[in-house]
Order: sequence, then C-alpha cells, then structure tokens
Amino acid sequence: MSVFEVGSLHVPAGELRHGRLTATTSASGQVVSVPVSIMHGAEPGPVLLVTGATHGTEITGTRTLLKLIARIDPARLRGTLISVPVTNPLAFDRATYASPEDGIHLGMPCYWPSDPAGSPTLRIGAQVRSLFDVATHYIDLHNNAEPAVPMSMEFAAQCSSPEVRQVQRAMAEAFGVTPVLMTDPEDGTAEKVGSVDGQPAAAASAHGIPGLMVELLDEHGHQGYEAGVRGVLNIMSKLGMLEEPVAPQLMERLQGSFTYHGVLTSRESGVLFPVCDPGTVMEQGSVVAHIVGMDGSVLEEVKMPVTGFVWAFLTTAPGGGSFAVPEGHAVGFVAAADV
Ligand SMILES: [Zn+2]
Repeated sequence: MSVFEVGSLHVPAGELRHGRLTATTSASGQVVSVPVSIMHGAEPGPVLLVTGATHGTEITGTRTLLKLIARIDPARLRGTLISVPVTNPLAFDRATYASPEDGIHLGMPCYWPSDPAGSPTLRIGAQVRSLFDVATHYIDLHNNAEPAVPMSMEFAAQCSSPEVRQVQRAMAEAFGVTPVLMTDPEDGTAEKVGSVDGQPAAAASAHGIPGLMVELLDEHGHQGYEAGVRGVLNIMSKLGMLEEPVAPQLMERLQGSFTYHGVLTSRESGVLFPVCDPGTVMEQGSVVAHIVGMDGSVLEEVKMPVTGFVWAFLTTAPGGGSFAVPEGHAVGFVAAADV
C-alpha cells in the first residue's frame, strides 16, 4: 500500500507519524502550528479524521485522542486515522473557548470556505481544511461541564445525500452515547449558541463527508475520555477499520429518539442550581434548575419546555465560566423526546 501524504506529512503503510501544520505567526514571531498524528494502516480503507479542542477549553477530546493512538496497532489497521488533538492551539494554549486574537472559534464556519489569508483562526481553519480534503469520515469531539451527560449530534438535513446520512446514522449508533438530531429551533438558539449549519460536522456532511459531533464530559478522572476512546474505536470497527466488534459504551444510552429543542433561558438573575440529573427523561413542566437570589430564596424555577432531557447546563462563558447567571441567560440544552 502506498504512502499517505497530506501537506508535508508522509506516512508509510503500517506506521504512525506525528507532524504539525504551520498555520500562522504570532506578533512576537512564535510559529503557531496544529499538531497532527497520522496512523496509516497496513491495508487500504476509510480515512477517519477526528478533531479535539475545536473549542480551546474542551480538552476531553484531546485526552481521548492522546490515549486512542496508543490502543491501535497500525499493522492491524485498515485505512487511515488522522488525529488532531488540538485543533485550535491559540485557544487551547490560553484555555479560552475562542482565539483571543480574533474572537473566532472553530465551531464557526472556518473550513468551507477556508481563508488562508484571513485572521489567525481562519488561517488555522485553512490548514485543517487540507485534512478534510483527504478524509472520508469525520468525528468532532467536544465536552460539556458537569453535571452533564455524554451525547452525540446528528445533522440529517445538512447531509449531501441519503448515503451520507445513512453512514452518519450508523456512526452515531456505533459511538454508543444517546444521539440527538440537531435542527435550528425557533427560539433564537442560533443567535445564542450558533447555527447548527456552522458546526464542522454539519458542514462536513454537507460536503459528502459523514460527520458526527460528540459532547463528552469535562472531568479529570478517566470516564470522560474513556467514553471517547470507546466511541471512536466503535466507529472504526463499524467502518471496517478494526477487527474488534462494536462494544457497549461505559454508560447507558437513553431509549427512543430525540430532537434538539433549544436552550433553557433564565428570566431572573442569580446563581444556577441544577436540580435534575442530566440525561434523565422528564415530563414537560418538570423543574430542572433553580435560580437563587442573594438572600437564598428561589427566584425562579426553570422548567422543561417539552418532555425530553437536559444534556448539560450552560455557564456564563462557553466552556469555562461559572453558574452566576445574568437575566435572560442561556442556562441549559434540551432535547425533546420524539413522539
Ligand atoms: Zn464545543
């Protein structure tokens, strides 16, 4: 089998190579580059691209990918795994969600179109785009702060063909955490947390690359990244890249099907106290969180707008703020149970 080439990286069959994609130069002259590990299997097969730290504060995907490559023997791999443990080094290095340089994060449309002459984050996007140009499948690993439950995001409407959608669906089932079908709700969600269309996994699916976005758990123990490792290995098995059968996830997934409903929004300001376990199906009207004022009284009961589940609560800064919430703040994500 031939050498796998992308940019200046050349990887012989049956080998793992680590390289970097040079993206931009900082004001003081530091070269900013994206770390990439490519495991090129001994036999031909799919080219799976997996990204971590698309958002710089969300490093469970980084931990997943650093552990994952040690668990696969390239001599037994069919196809190629492209691992990008830190997709946005500008944000990762400063523990920020978006890049401080330009306020852009890679969950925004940075790959289609890509802009190699744009601001620093867009230049990173243009380098990462070169990996999409050789990939056949894509997984984007994110995470939420606890309390939260791991879930995956499917983008059916964005898929370029029924075949792409079918593969995306199979990837979601194989990953093994509860899948949620993502659509833009009519609650201003796109203004609050970004449009579904702009997500890299949605954009990849629109360009013929079946893509899955996954929200893992932000925790410093092992369960967050072990669920990620298990999920990616499962997708590789499902795609025929590994011999091992698809294995059960570490946590149970919810039965039934779910569609994104939108964000919970606080009416009052105060401190957010979740009062439900994320990942538990609750009836419409059930109280899921309290907003507590400075005298300790409950100023607001945040209720389920539909029957379904909360997968995470939202902090004031995406991916790294606190539960001190202003009035009218997005405080959680809701998936509605399909009936
Ligand atoms: Zn994220």
